[in-house]
Amino acid sequence: MDRSNFIREIESGLNSKFGRGIENATPVQLHDSIAGAVMRDISGRWNKSVEKHLSGRRACYLSMEFLMGRAVYNNLLCLGIKDEVDGLLKEHGRSLSELEEIEDAALGNGGLGRLAACFLDSAAAHDIPLDGYGIRYKYGIFRQAIENGFQREYADDWQKYGDPWSKRRDSDAVEVVYADETVRAVPYDMPIIGYGTENVGNLRLWQAEAVNEFDFAKFDCGSYAEAVAAKTSAENISMVLYPNDNCEEGKILRLKQEYFFSAASLADIVKKHIERSGTLDNFADKVTIQLNDTHPVIAIPELMRLLCDVYGMDFERAFEITRKTFNYTNHTIMQEALEKWSAALMERLLPRVYAYVLMINERFIKEMYALGKDREFIRRLAPVSDSTVKMADMAVYMSSYTNGVAKIHTDILKADTLKDWYGLYPERFQNKTNGITQRRWLALCNEELSALITRLLGNDGWIKDLDRLAQLKKYADDEDVLREFMAVKETKKRQLADFIRVHDGAEIDPGTVFDIQIKRLHEYKRQLLNALSILYIYYGIKDGSIKDFTPTTYIFGAKSAPGYRRAKAVIKLIGEIGKLVNSDPETKGLIKVVFVQNYNVSYAEKLVAAADISEQISTAGTEASGTGNMKLMLNGAVTLGTLDGANVEIAEEAGEENEYIFGARVDELKKIMPEYDPRKLVFSDEKINRALDKLIDGSLDDGGVPSGQEGSFKELYKALTDGASWHVPDHYYVIGDLNSYVEAKLKANADYRDGLAFAKKCWLNMCSAGKFSSDRTVKDYAENIWKL
Ligand SMILES: *Cc1c(COP(=O)(O)O)cnc(C)c1O
Repeated sequence: MDRSNFIREIESGLNSKFGRGIENATPVQLHDSIAGAVMRDISGRWNKSVEKHLSGRRACYLSMEFLMGRAVYNNLLCLGIKDEVDGLLKEHGRSLSELEEIEDAALGNGGLGRLAACFLDSAAAHDIPLDGYGIRYKYGIFRQAIENGFQREYADDWQKYGDPWSKRRDSDAVEVVYADETVRAVPYDMPIIGYGTENVGNLRLWQAEAVNEFDFAKFDCGSYAEAVAAKTSAENISMVLYPNDNCEEGKILRLKQEYFFSAASLADIVKKHIERSGTLDNFADKVTIQLNDTHPVIAIPELMRLLCDVYGMDFERAFEITRKTFNYTNHTIMQEALEKWSAALMERLLPRVYAYVLMINERFIKEMYALGKDREFIRRLAPVSDSTVKMADMAVYMSSYTNGVAKIHTDILKADTLKDWYGLYPERFQNKTNGITQRRWLALCNEELSALITRLLGNDGWIKDLDRLAQLKKYADDEDVLREFMAVKETKKRQLADFIRVHDGAEIDPGTVFDIQIKRLHEYKRQLLNALSILYIYYGIKDGSIKDFTPTTYIFGAKSAPGYRRAKAVIKLIGEIGKLVNSDPETKGLIKVVFVQNYNVSYAEKLVAAADISEQISTAGTEASGTGNMKLMLNGAVTLGTLDGANVEIAEEAGEENEYIFGARVDELKKIMPEYDPRKLVFSDEKINRALDKLIDGSLDDGGVPSGQEGSFKELYKALTDGASWHVPDHYYVIGDLNSYVEAKLKANADYRDGLAFAKKCWLNMCSAGKFSSDRTVKDYAENIWKL
């Protein structure tokens, strides 16, 4: 777009809507006008792209979560006008950086939702016809504050300044029918602007509304509450995102949400298809649907219902089309995250859909008997057994392809979690190692490093072809380049320190090592291991057993599910360790611990660019892939991690000598865990005992909460040493890995002293991150699953 034209557009928007000019507009008004100008600018090619996607074969990405982050900077970047707009604003005494108060669109919990956002970005940039479908929650993931060391949750009213990046499309509204309620699903479309291309993808988010605003008959009789009851009930469906990451709740509202967006999306997809093809016979030739985890799997029986009940197709033909249409991405092997529904509940809420679940189940049983499978095998795999609907089993049975999200994860699926299914249908299984978009996670969040890369490569082609970074490996021993690289890192550390001072009121020193663990708070991610290692090291420094320690700042960012007591206790514990360590004059300047508030996409952009050490320390076999690990690698951090998820491939790409790998591997844990008794280690190892003892010696303040309550450190201690009836002691092998973790951590700490040698490792990590572009992942889906 013409730059002066664009500024005129912003000015006229400001003037007509708010009666202000650029100089005296509020940041919110400025944001609104910039968004308005962009939306007007792209509207022509957005419409064209939507129509183009619909006229050919296209892929639809159904996801309960889209963790988009802030749109304005990314959209300007993708249009190639970010610097110009900033420059023009500056001529008027304003700056794009003022828009930091605009909320993130945080309609997701963590990695799974962010993956969906990265995929849309990559597909748009590479002209791949992929469109997203999800829910327009009124409240996304809660805003977190740390008060007195405890997490507090506040409603995330992300639309409080409006939503200028969406277009409401009333003409495409559809009705979604439950047993005792019918609601209206109204789509809001967000453009996904492809970088350096005319293509604009579409994210369609459904909002639940009442079919009738309210019931006048009831209102006339004076029954106000009843009159608005239907409205309230309908709107509740898209009111709030469930804040659990990797943990299923089995609540009826959740099933309503899943059906709501699955049914609305399918109605829309089918309608658009028929408008263009006039028949459903070729549906699976024109449409392929990717299910992001099991959350949208209810779409499978819903498509069967549509094809048979509404369009009169016979069951076998519908079955064939449905199976051809769907593909399923598995994101976890952890039992507590595998989605199951009470059959009675599903039948009560969705009787006709449930009837198709049963028909699918019957067909499965017949097919298996014909193959000579035994009853036990059939019971294990059947989509319905023991009065339970097992969504993962239905997904594998009723789809063309099932994929895991990192090599090791797919291997575990085949060998373990979905072993029987793999035996039945080996040709259906694929691996698609996750990725991240380098537009947001390098070009946008680290302009300084981007400029260095572009200068050395001679062009910015890496922004759409990340493999080109490998050409920079030749500078790994070039002192001038490494020194510039180190200067960039220092700049980013200084910027982060400034932000943390304002945002969290903590003072940190950019001259120290930044050791960063940022991700959802979960036992399997083992923030507790990190916390214990800090105590271990702290006492080691004090008693002189750890010498020459390079001053380090340990930074944590994480949200806990509001009802997850143990995770909340870990947050409180990290805060207390911070208090202890940060105030000790003996270790002053050596160790500092900071827990930043409200970790989200925008915060992540600042943190990943400033990290020296990337903490990826999940128990081997628990983190399906991880994507935070990739963001940190791309920005030139070394990984301190276990051989889990994509860490395995990160070490493969960058060379294990450039990472700090520790801990028991998956195959080792298999042998260790049945015999594992952490008490033996605790009581035989004085240093482990000393660190652990801080949980129970009363010197750290957990708020005096009784054991088992939020904040209770005693309960954390017991979980590590006693276990519980439903949990073996130290289920995640924290104590078992502690020694090798501390050893690797201290090795990294010592290596940092040789600045150039450490920078070389960081450099090689950055240069080796090409594989982890979501461009690669999406192209692989497009070619081998979607067949676009
Ligand atoms: C990338 C990202 C995640 C995923 O992090 P993992 O370390 O892979 O769990 C979670 N939250 C936000 C805000 C992110 O940007």
